[in-house]
Amino acid sequence: MNALLWPLGAAALYWGVPYLVWQWWGLGVVQRGLGSARPELGLTFDDGPDPRTTPAVLDALAEAGVRATFFVLGSRAERHPELIARLVDEGHELALHGWRHRHGWVRWPGEAYADVVRGAQELERLTGAPPRFFRPPHGAWTWAQRAAVRRLGLTPVHWTVEAHDWHPALGPEDVVRRVAERSHPGDVVVLHDAGPGGKTTAAALPGLLEELSARGFQPKPLGELRGLRRGRGRDLPKRAWAATVDRYFDRAYGVEELNYAAHSVFRVAKGPFPGPALELADGSRIEPGAPAAELHLHSERMARAGEAGSLTAFRFFKKSIPDLARALRERPHLGDVQVFWGVSLFQEILEPVGFRTVELPPARRRFLGAYMHFLHRLYGGTPLKRVWPKLVYIDRTTLLERYG
Ligand SMILES: [Zn+2]
Repeated sequence: MNALLWPLGAAALYWGVPYLVWQWWGLGVVQRGLGSARPELGLTFDDGPDPRTTPAVLDALAEAGVRATFFVLGSRAERHPELIARLVDEGHELALHGWRHRHGWVRWPGEAYADVVRGAQELERLTGAPPRFFRPPHGAWTWAQRAAVRRLGLTPVHWTVEAHDWHPALGPEDVVRRVAERSHPGDVVVLHDAGPGGKTTAAALPGLLEELSARGFQPKPLGELRGLRRGRGRDLPKRAWAATVDRYFDRAYGVEELNYAAHSVFRVAKGPFPGPALELADGSRIEPGAPAAELHLHSERMARAGEAGSLTAFRFFKKSIPDLARALRERPHLGDVQVFWGVSLFQEILEPVGFRTVELPPARRRFLGAYMHFLHRLYGGTPLKRVWPKLVYIDRTTLLERYG
């Protein structure tokens, strides 16, 4: 029995701990730009260079005037130095993906260590400068790679948005939709410029860059992403909350996105208005039970916008309100909605853009206030002093008149 326990324990330490701590929790690993309300995305490409697909990727980037980060393999860089030269010439950032593309878990420790070192040496030989970032094949870590990263002074990197361009069932349009609908300001997107993913991405990229730009995003190289830093222990509660409680509520209430633009803060869930009866500007009333939709703000975006100043938060709301008017016109199941309502700490910013507010009953105000301040802090917002939540609402006539 003991004879079995030792190797099992050693395997758990060698693979399990790096998987949990670096790949899953992202502690000490760069995963995204944090604390920025700017609509920037880190655009990254893995596995190249490949003469069959990398040139098309570079052409599409040049055409759109976008620069990105390429996590290249040392062995492929050695075979195609002209592509590395072009990549650097065109202002892209060169980063390391290893020497050969093999999952760290199926390599001997010495081999996994040497792979990182050899890849880094090759990039330095080709460009005269050592790489700054390293992302292992498949994002999978072992202690050996970690030791190499430490010795070479590399910054370990993961991603937040995976394009799945390597998936045989996904075509270029699917990749465009997938990336555009999953991206939030500060995210790091991973695509490929080699292999099956490279083919799909080369075809998808012109459309993807156009779509991201239409949604207000600015893709850039990782090294230029604002607020880029390694994951810390105190990022974990927010991530755990977003992955469990937030996701549960979104499903349970049928919360839907209205727009995937970088500034969008409103999401809605349709349901009868719970009351109390609301006064409208023209003297008419919204009674309890009327067709309505509850507003759910993007907590993280609002916290960041609030941090950047109330002007930024105001701008986010102002840009997002037309999404509500558009939903009334274009989404049949929301077509009969009489009022959009919610409970918010941001009432002072919402009033100037057309919302009306109502005080909540004291008990509800205290309970929701505590909850909303907790969420705001959890998502990294600075404390909002002496602000109580209010019921905020905007009716369909006002919306269609002002923003239709
Ligand atoms: Zn890869």
